[in-house]
Amino acid sequence: MSVTAVRRAAPDLAALPDDLAGIELIDDPAVVRMKSRDFYWYSPILKPLLRDKSADLLAVPKSEDDLVRIARACARHRVPVVVRGGGTGNYGQLVPLEGGLIIDMAALDAVRWIEGGLGRFQAGARLIDIDAAARPLGWELRMHPSTKRMATIGGFVAGGAAGIGSITWGQLRDAGAIAGLRVVTMEDEPRAIELRGADLAKATHAYGTNGIITEVEMPMARAWPWVEAIIHFPDFMTAARFGQALGESDGIVKNLVSAFAWPIPAYFKALRPFMPDGRSAVICMVAAPSVDALRDLATEHGAVLSFERAADEAATGLDVPPLYEFTWNHTTLQALKVDRTITYLQSIFTPGRNIAQVEALHRLFGDEVMLHLEFQRRQGGVSCSALQVIRYTNAARLAEIVRIHEAHGVRISNPHSYILEDKGPKVIDADHQLAFKREADPYGLMNPGKMSRWSPA
Ligand SMILES: Cc1cc2nc3c(=O)[nH]c(=O)nc-3n(C[C@H](O)[C@H](O)[C@H](O)COP(=O)(O)OP(=O)(O)OC[C@H]3O[C@@H](n4cnc5c(N)ncnc54)[C@H](O)[C@@H]3O)c2cc1C
Repeated sequence: MSVTAVRRAAPDLAALPDDLAGIELIDDPAVVRMKSRDFYWYSPILKPLLRDKSADLLAVPKSEDDLVRIARACARHRVPVVVRGGGTGNYGQLVPLEGGLIIDMAALDAVRWIEGGLGRFQAGARLIDIDAAARPLGWELRMHPSTKRMATIGGFVAGGAAGIGSITWGQLRDAGAIAGLRVVTMEDEPRAIELRGADLAKATHAYGTNGIITEVEMPMARAWPWVEAIIHFPDFMTAARFGQALGESDGIVKNLVSAFAWPIPAYFKALRPFMPDGRSAVICMVAAPSVDALRDLATEHGAVLSFERAADEAATGLDVPPLYEFTWNHTTLQALKVDRTITYLQSIFTPGRNIAQVEALHRLFGDEVMLHLEFQRRQGGVSCSALQVIRYTNAARLAEIVRIHEAHGVRISNPHSYILEDKGPKVIDADHQLAFKREADPYGLMNPGKMSRWSPA
């Protein structure tokens, strides 16, 4: 993959300040560059490709009207645009490949309403603030990424996939996971469009390539008092089988089931007192009324809980951060903090065959590919995905590791590419997204270079 993008008519950035009078614009290169970055540096492949990329100008809109003015001006002057939420994407989704304008959504952070199992939020609202507003009303988000403290709801639906809650509620792309999106188009006369039902696929997980999401409506779940726990096991396959069994225990209310092959737990510095040497571990979150059943299940698998804490206590005593910050893609971050030479993969195992696939690959690779499983509901059952922590040698070996996974029937969602289609969206979603881009972004200004199927008409 190389960063060569075709520029359409030359952008006239100098014309923007006049058109956007009254909207905060920042051109300090250090600030703009900082806002043009996400966590792409996780990837040794992306790092050299993206480190010199930056927008030229940053805009901080305060209302949807501001966004409409920005869209109109950028369409008129053919200026490329990237939208920024919390900046926690990890494949360079938001890194501008062609300069231009980056829009910081931080000031569009209102909770519009939460009622009757639905909530509506401005796209820049942070997930942690949404839950803080929802809990007193008895609701919580059904799922959130492990970046809950930084990520926005707009960034999650535009760039995320699943997370804490997915063991009960599946993935963001499942029908019913998102209720509605409001999107401002990038046309001569921008429109604000409401997407619902099947139309949601047009802009969900599209990396902001085909519109600016201004509001998100989400189905909510009844809030539970969650308990975080760590359980350790003499070998990884016992931990994996326990994870599967916990996932399939329909009577246990749960939010998170993550399994880690030793030596991954050794990377979790703050958790070391609860992670004995040589033992694989499961981190999970269950509802307080389900803790006794969790202990019984652990006993059945020859294990005990080494750590147990009410999740809301994590918010006050940060000696041990919330346990979800060791799971999902935080596992990779915790490992990178200790060892900058490792890298990772993202993969989806086959429902019904997942444990057999895990066993075969664990045997084959040993410590070179350290398994980290996230159990999820998929296609009506319980399966897992993995964010393997890999001892990186070179790109050729990484490609070989990918090939071997694929030969075992494991689907790779390539985290070493910023190209949307390389994450393996359903073809039908990709078709929807491309068709919508032709309508909503006719000049191809939105996050150019990220949707490989796009070419100017
Ligand atoms: C440590 C770590 C852990 C992670 N864990 C998870 C996880 O558990 N689950 C998961 O799914 N992901 C995870 N991720 C990836 C990322 O955090 C999530 O996708 C997150 O939801 C992104 O939100 P954000 O607000 O930071 O988005 P950003 O990084 O700001 O943006 C992500 C993409 O969406 C676009 N975008 C943002 N806002 C808008 C908008 N309003 N309109 C249109 N486009 C927009 C951006 O242009 C970009 O392409 C993790 C990343 C890291 C670094």
